[in-house]
Amino acid sequence: MTSSRGNSKDCGHCTLCCKVMEIEQLRKPAHAWCPHCEPRQGCTIYRDRPRECAEFSCLWLLNDSLDERWMPSKAKLVLTTSEDGIEVRCDPSFPDAWRRAPYQAQIRKWAASGEEDDVTVIVIVGQRVILITPTRDFDLGEIGPDERIVRDLDGTRVVDVRVVKINPKQQS
Ligand code: SF4
Ligand code: SF4
Repeated sequence: MTSSRGNSKDCGHCTLCCKVMEIEQLRKPAHAWCPHCEPRQGCTIYRDRPRECAEFSCLWLLNDSLDERWMPSKAKLVLTTSEDGIEVRCDPSFPDAWRRAPYQAQIRKWAASGEEDDVTVIVIVGQRVILITPTRDFDLGEIGPDERIVRDLDGTRVVDVRVVKINPKQQS
């Protein structure tokens, strides 16, 4: 979304978040280019872009430990954090990008270190959600807004994962 932060990084020619992220204020779905984006150039309504866009920074931009290999336009991955942990969104044109080196090994390391602290790591490929654990991947398919992920734990180790409907009383 073409911005820079206090560190040495800036978006440069990357515009991948304008494709993979949902923008509620524009009713733009995830994984489709924003009509205001000039891919690899920038936002054509930059001064008037929604607050959601102005406030967004991907993890690569914010985290100095992620080197140039993780620049979203190169990696074809946009990293963000959520309440539960780390989300890795693949450019849908490169659905296996996360499986390439060095990405998959590092993503699994985050899952291993996150297990102790109840931090989840998920990969999102189009509408598909994959929960990553240190030993295996759980392909959960498409998860609707009225559904959530439930992990079965043995201590801190994830042994199974299910998708369940949210009780409507819990949604409000
Ligand atoms: S994905 Fe990150 S680096 Fe790329 S345009 Fe968006 S904020 Fe900038
Ligand atoms: S409004 Fe601009 S910054 Fe926001 S998603 Fe569209 S192109 Fe990107």
